[in-house]
Amino acid sequence: MNMKLLFAFACSAYLVACKAQLPTTAPATPAPQALKPVAPPAVPKNIILMIGDGMGTSQIYAGMIGNNNFLQLERFKQLGFIKTYSFDNIITDSGAGATAFSIGQKTYNNAIGVAGDTLAHETVLETAAKSGKATGVIATCAVTHATPASFVAHVPHREMHEDIAWEFVHSPLQLFIGGGRKYFEQRKDGRDLMAELRMRGFYTATTEAAMLEVPAQAKMAALLWDDAPAKKNEGRNDILPRAAALAVDRLKSNEKGFFLMVEGSQIDWGGHANETDYIVQEMIDFDQAIGKVLDFAEKDGETLVIVTADHETGGFALAGGDFRTGKVKGAFTSTKHTAVMVPVFAYGPGAELFTGIQENIDIYKHIMNLWNLQPTRQPVRWDAIRRGN
Ligand code: MG
Ligand code: ZN
Repeated sequence: MNMKLLFAFACSAYLVACKAQLPTTAPATPAPQALKPVAPPAVPKNIILMIGDGMGTSQIYAGMIGNNNFLQLERFKQLGFIKTYSFDNIITDSGAGATAFSIGQKTYNNAIGVAGDTLAHETVLETAAKSGKATGVIATCAVTHATPASFVAHVPHREMHEDIAWEFVHSPLQLFIGGGRKYFEQRKDGRDLMAELRMRGFYTATTEAAMLEVPAQAKMAALLWDDAPAKKNEGRNDILPRAAALAVDRLKSNEKGFFLMVEGSQIDWGGHANETDYIVQEMIDFDQAIGKVLDFAEKDGETLVIVTADHETGGFALAGGDFRTGKVKGAFTSTKHTAVMVPVFAYGPGAELFTGIQENIDIYKHIMNLWNLQPTRQPVRWDAIRRGN
């Protein structure tokens, strides 16, 4: 008898022996105790995703030192970290970083709303809009810049600003606020996308005063700067917190809720420039926007707020500082992005999902699961989106 047969025989003999020991009648057992009902997980009506570009823990702490030892971020009680590496690099760029949040796929650096094979995936913002949510995007850079673009557009390279602008015109957005007007009106193809926005039902605004005049229920395209706005303390002032408050106020009237992405875009630029004060000012500005959003969420009770970053920038370290004077002594190891984990802060229904150490793509997965959403279309060639127009 070969070994295999012997083994099979031994096994079946063992099974017969086990069966023989089973009782022939079921013993009298008490009626099974019903499981204690568990409250269904709370589902947020609204989700606000706030991205501090280049915001690592040093950037946050620098902001605290520069702001009398307090940031609005300290109001959060549920915190985690995400791993930021991209499809092809341990150090991500903002395109792959934001696309991880928007389509739930690790992609190559410079990608916008497309996976590693350049196929265009429906973004969380697009899927949310299809389900009846109102959607919005706010940034302190051009709206066609990598982070905001990744929620709205699908192009193989982040520098394709004019193609990205076209996708804003054809997007489901209820509102967007940022810079980059030149990509809408000074184009190689000669098209006037400001006029095309109006033809598609948007009220366009090029100043904050005009933005405030847009009727409450109307679609709004506020392109307040030709390209990127100035630094916060060189003339931009506190437009970001005001825009965040305005956006929430406009979007909240939608019965089915809303999805809003707010970016503190220039924390990253302070890191690239190795300018500590630039980082501190931009960090505090973004934090004030967070405060406005938290005030709303706290009152509303049905809003999930997620604050995170796409990556860290500058290899920023704190070599000293003084809480009394607000002075921060920064040190840098790079003028580029770095590979470290970045923090996640969450408040509201579903916040517990964002604690612990996770992947950046899990942000997308949790939002989709909380809202019980699936993409409504299969991935398509990125340039197929343009056909018919
Ligand atoms: Mg950005
Ligand atoms: Zn950067």
